[in-house]
Amino acid sequence: MIFNVASLLTAREGATRQLAIDDGEVYTDRHRFFEVSGPVRMLRTDRTVLVSATVSATVEDTCSRCLAPAVLNIQSEFEEEFEPANRDLMSDRPAPGAADFDPALLIDARNMLDMSDALAQALSLSVPLAPLCKEDCAGICTVCFANRNRATCRCDQNPIDPRWRSLAELGARTSNSTG
Ligand SMILES: [Zn+2]
Ligand SMILES: [Zn+2]
Repeated sequence: MIFNVASLLTAREGATRQLAIDDGEVYTDRHRFFEVSGPVRMLRTDRTVLVSATVSATVEDTCSRCLAPAVLNIQSEFEEEFEPANRDLMSDRPAPGAADFDPALLIDARNMLDMSDALAQALSLSVPLAPLCKEDCAGICTVCFANRNRATCRCDQNPIDPRWRSLAELGARTSNSTG
């Protein structure tokens, strides 16, 4: 997701470009986002390039109920300002503040704007905290650990609370000894 923005950097403030991402891939440490697609709008501000995008993507995660792979379709509204390393292309802009400098938001010296890392971060915020492989995932049996989407087990689905189990066993033993 690399765009050459030389013509935008030398254009007037307020100039725009309409671009698109089509079937791209971006990564974070945790996720691979693929089929990343959507329109991208770039706006030349006084000192930066403001990038807005509405992207959809597909990501594989783990179902929070059954622990099987869950393929998720996600959407993200992306908006970030990218600062050019070529400061001479911009009128008297000050040096980037060290405190808020983000290397993911730098347009390199060849005027290439790479939105991959920033977009991957934005997409990762759209991944649900408790992903599901499907809306009605039946989860895992808490007794035999069978995946109940694939197999129907015969376990009692209301097992005795472990805190009561020893008491129940004691009761069984007592009734045996008296019987
Ligand atoms: Zn599941
Ligand atoms: Zn079971």
